[in-house]
Amino acid sequence: MNSFRKILNGKQVDIFLLKNKNDSEIAVTNYGARVVSWMYKGIDVVVGFDSIDGYLSSTEFYYGATIGRYANRIRNAKFMLNGSEYHLQENNPPDQLHGGVNGFHNQVWDVEDVRANKIALSYLSKDAEEGYPGNLQVQLHYELTDEDELRITYVAQTDAATFINLTHHSYFNLNGQGSGSILNHTLQINADKFTPMDAGMLPAGGIASVAGTPFDFRQPHTIGERVNDNEEQLIFGKGYDHNFVLNNNGKFSFAAKVVGDRTGIVLETFTDQPGMQLYAGNFMRGENTIKGGYKDEYRTAFCLETQHFPDSPNQPHFPSVVLRPGDPFNSVTVYKLS
Ligand code: BGC
Repeated sequence: MNSFRKILNGKQVDIFLLKNKNDSEIAVTNYGARVVSWMYKGIDVVVGFDSIDGYLSSTEFYYGATIGRYANRIRNAKFMLNGSEYHLQENNPPDQLHGGVNGFHNQVWDVEDVRANKIALSYLSKDAEEGYPGNLQVQLHYELTDEDELRITYVAQTDAATFINLTHHSYFNLNGQGSGSILNHTLQINADKFTPMDAGMLPAGGIASVAGTPFDFRQPHTIGERVNDNEEQLIFGKGYDHNFVLNNNGKFSFAAKVVGDRTGIVLETFTDQPGMQLYAGNFMRGENTIKGGYKDEYRTAFCLETQHFPDSPNQPHFPSVVLRPGDPFNSVTVYKLS
């Protein structure tokens, strides 16, 4: 696909197809290490563009991207580490969101290895890039298994202490991208707790039970059933845009299940990360033309961003996100369709 071949920042951008024995197919570009499409039984369940230009003109939506160095928000775009204060690029004033304007989503990754059903990409995030300390080398593996799983593996090393939080930002619509609202999708989340936000969408500090709130997805509910409730957290988030505390004790396990109401396609998510941001497309505005000539209309896709909690560098009681030289960083998230 020529529309994906381009030189950006002096590096070649391209598109790569991963296939399995069921004829499922995932397209990946090394620009932002993004998933462009995921064809399953003839239905494309990931929102994306027909060309690299679509991604370049919509960077603030993070379509399909790998997010780093720190996914989600960091309050006032700063933190203390080893007694020094670091100032980050403020792309969501006064905060930083998803690693800054030139976060990992907006970088051209190096292509290390391409096979029929998998690809390995890498990116060297240099010391001081977007304000973060330390040279951070990241390897990312995308694999499409014969069980129709997209298996994402992250590995990283640093040469100085830094904070790290990596996630995947595909926008899913299990009825097919471009097919309208996701509010009738049924959602289940393996979380007894979540981290409530303040009016600025940063963690208010505590960890709260989901019981009796619109955040209780321990039993399946449609995304739309309670999304417009007159409830403070939903007002602050403009809908669902919240971090759930997964019941996984840091062990790889089931995180969430979503069912498309029109297709019956099921997406299950598994991860070793302690949190997951449910973002249900509240900022989609229909201003971008996605694959097939559709518009990215309000709430027509959802993201399940497995991650550490937002603003952890400034929240000492949240699980640690510091990575020191010699520390291993290894994380796996699986999205499975059936
Ligand atoms: C965030 C949203 C943000 C969106 C950008 C999500 O991960 O939680 O607040 O607007 O990314 O597209």
